[in-house]
Amino acid sequence: MQGPARFGPFRQEYEQNKKKILMSQDVCGICGKPVDKSLPGTDPMGPTIDHIIPISKGGHPADISNLQLAHRSCNRQKSDKLLAEAGTEEEWSNRNLPWSIDWKAYRSG
Ligand SMILES: [Zn+2]
Repeated sequence: MQGPARFGPFRQEYEQNKKKILMSQDVCGICGKPVDKSLPGTDPMGPTIDHIIPISKGGHPADISNLQLAHRSCNRQKSDKLLAEAGTEEEWSNRNLPWSIDWKAYRSG
């Protein structure tokens, strides 16, 4: 079980940035379609906060530059995909990713 503890000292920062993103973003960072923020968080098309680079891949747990708005279902698919492809980083960096971030630019910037 992974709970809030994995955020540790970043939890407060995460919560603040989550609110900022919910107020300022309207489009899913994964599929690029609008997110209906009036839907409950339990709805598959409802809003959730996605870590652009997963914490397990070294992404920051709370920095706003690593967080984006996403559909709940998209975020789940991304997690499943990353899990399925764990250990094949070279392969998945060479294919067309369903989300638009330039990973190399992010890492060097
Ligand atoms: Zn989406």
